[in-house]
Amino acid sequence: MPQAAAKIRLHLATEAAAFEPGAEVALEREQATYLGAVMRLGQGARLMVFNGRDGEWLAEVAALTKRSGALRLLEPLRPAMTPPDLWLLFAPIKKARTDFIVEKACELGCRRILPVFTEYTNAERVNRARLQAHCVEAAEQCGLVFVPEVAEPSTLSALLAGWTGERRLMFCSERGGRPARAALAEADRTAPWAVLTGPEGGFSAAEAARLESLPGARAVSLGPRILRADTAAVAVITLWQAMLGDWEG
Ligand code: SAH
Repeated sequence: MPQAAAKIRLHLATEAAAFEPGAEVALEREQATYLGAVMRLGQGARLMVFNGRDGEWLAEVAALTKRSGALRLLEPLRPAMTPPDLWLLFAPIKKARTDFIVEKACELGCRRILPVFTEYTNAERVNRARLQAHCVEAAEQCGLVFVPEVAEPSTLSALLAGWTGERRLMFCSERGGRPARAALAEADRTAPWAVLTGPEGGFSAAEAARLESLPGARAVSLGPRILRADTAAVAVITLWQAMLGDWEG
């Protein structure tokens, strides 16, 4: 297999270029600066690129100045890989912990990440673009060839208003529920899925009742201890992946 000189992986926008041998793709200004000034690459240097759709490719630097440059795509290295159809719905918490949740959701394998504002959510706003950039960074570092989409934040009530139940929903309830592993053992493996975690203040009684009555939704427990919201997100994705996801192969 052809080697890239250094283990540099760069995410390219899907619209930047069609991935085919010989195709040239212009670098964004920050990418050119990163490759030249930070990584000290020059013309002809090789690296790996991916765009979240066409797998991983070997590329070489075709031109590079401080502020601009272009890569030439050489050949495919790894095919595209889409994670299972799992969405993470999570109530945003403090900035660093929200970043952690998003990063771990990428690494563990989620197709889509949706910040949802609940009644007891303290975080006032969420910078979607920043969270999306975190996903790209996690993907670059962890050898992922897929980057989950971070959706525009919405309120839990708006999200649930349109919930048909076709996508199954497992919501982690600090008030208790079916043990998550037992719920997953009984679950429909063929359906698309979502898991939901609450904010530091937990779900309100009204939210819990609304969630319970939702088609295709089920309250689950993650054990006898109360977990912090970021721990709960990692735990539930891990369980889902191990029981229904792609951790088999
Ligand atoms: N302040 C709340 C706890 C919130 S924990 C209280 O004291 O009751 C934050 C979120 O993590 C919860 O909303 C829930 O989604 C999840 N969580 C934490 N521990 C859990 C557990 N043992 N079982 C299920 N979900 C849990």
